[in-house]
Amino acid sequence: MRLRFRLRIKTTVCSTLASILILAITFRFCHLRIIFVVHTGQKVHMFNLILFGPPGSGKGTQSDRLVEKYGLIHLSTGNLLREEIANKTPLGKEAKKFIDHGQLVPDEVVIGMVDSFFDRHKNVNGFLFDGFPRTVAQAQALDKLLTLKKTDIAVVLALDVTEEELVKRLLNRGKTSGRSDDNSEDVIRKRFAVYTNETSPVADYYKKSRKFKAIHGEGSVDEINAALRQAIDKAMAVHKD
Ligand code: AMP
Repeated sequence: MRLRFRLRIKTTVCSTLASILILAITFRFCHLRIIFVVHTGQKVHMFNLILFGPPGSGKGTQSDRLVEKYGLIHLSTGNLLREEIANKTPLGKEAKKFIDHGQLVPDEVVIGMVDSFFDRHKNVNGFLFDGFPRTVAQAQALDKLLTLKKTDIAVVLALDVTEEELVKRLLNRGKTSGRSDDNSEDVIRKRFAVYTNETSPVADYYKKSRKFKAIHGEGSVDEINAALRQAIDKAMAVHKD
């Protein structure tokens, strides 16, 4: 009686183990990546890049070229805010008051907008962040959002341009861009002051994790683009490992 009971337990254990083994083999190929992510917290392979720099440093122009070349998703908080303004949404109406005065839109508004952008763009190769983060609080929030997506920032490329050149470029852009914040030299100077006080500490935040690289931002669009591509290719080679 006892022997039969032991035998039955042995048979049950063996068949359970066999079932687990068969299940593991069956799912090995199709679900390997999911199992890996769930059990080990393994990073998802994305390449996320921040294009950093003061207003007028060429982030928008270079972003358009880089997203096309590398198949990244362009996330420009300035563009998203201008869309909200054009659509006359409550968020847009609120944001306009800050933008017209050369001030930053409050962190919680911008972070919420980035969060919902992520929800609309899943399973992508990576993001190119342009004009975001602009405060240390935004950089910390971005780190948290990316950690939830099991990814991180690969590199921060900062365009370096002198203030005289920036004012010249912005006033020139204001003639055709239709942007209210490019028309007045006062608003432009205010944007630089905000950049120095609130945004430049973001550079130190990324220097700590050695992700920051300055790029000379004067010269032709092609020359600057070549320097950016060289830095991105190098960062990609390291980030693959
Ligand atoms: P941009 O097109 O990036 O130059 O942004 C234009 C304006 O939008 C800025 O001067 C800010 O008023 C606002 N803005 C854009 N991005 C942000 C951000 N990340 N945080 C706060 N305000 C922003």
